[in-house]
Amino acid sequence: MMMDKNPDLSLLYRYQEARRRLTACEGELAAWQGQKVLADLKNQVQTAHQAAERLKAECNRLKKENRRLEGECRDYEAQLHDLETTLYSGKISAPKELEQLQRRIAEYQTAKTEREEKILNQLYLLETKEQELTAAQKQVEALEAKLTAATGDVTQRVHALQERCTELQKEVEDLDRALPENLKGFYQRSVKVLKGVVVVPIKEKTCGFCHMIIPPAVLEKVKKGGSGVMLCENCGRGLFEQK
Ligand SMILES: [Zn+2]
Repeated sequence: MMMDKNPDLSLLYRYQEARRRLTACEGELAAWQGQKVLADLKNQVQTAHQAAERLKAECNRLKKENRRLEGECRDYEAQLHDLETTLYSGKISAPKELEQLQRRIAEYQTAKTEREEKILNQLYLLETKEQELTAAQKQVEALEAKLTAATGDVTQRVHALQERCTELQKEVEDLDRALPENLKGFYQRSVKVLKGVVVVPIKEKTCGFCHMIIPPAVLEKVKKGGSGVMLCENCGRGLFEQK
């Protein structure tokens, strides 16, 4: 690759590395902005909230049902009171009528007892459901607190990454301005095929990218300069000596 004498590959290297850091930072930022962590937590909060709401509705239903049964019990009681008053008033003497009256009293008492038992059973059930509701509400609160904390963390993280991206953006722009046109062209021609790494420093006489041993003649040319950019024979990346 022929080029100007002594191209400043270390400047191109700095430019390349700043661009790579910027790409990585932008990738990380996008991942955090995707907020997968928050989406999962939001789902958990919603599920817990729905469970609590179902329990609340169930408790309300039981309470309402018990109020209805209590009302019925009071009605039966009032009617029983009337029937018993009639029974003991001595006004009814016909055996058939008396028998009918006693049968009604017995029926009403049975109906009242049935409802009282149902009320009692539902009170036990209500107690259990109310305990479950308390637990479910605590669960919702705990998850909401977790979500709030996580939202704060993500916001902070996103902010920090945005700042870092801005800094890197500026660094890239500054280096872009400082970079000679021919080096920029060299970079742009190969950046895609070389996956973002166009130049690498020589490390202990090997290519800093693929670690291939560099022939002494090439090393010499890199050291002396003036022969344009020397490429690694194996991976095709521009080689330079890092000072
Ligand atoms: Zn190489």
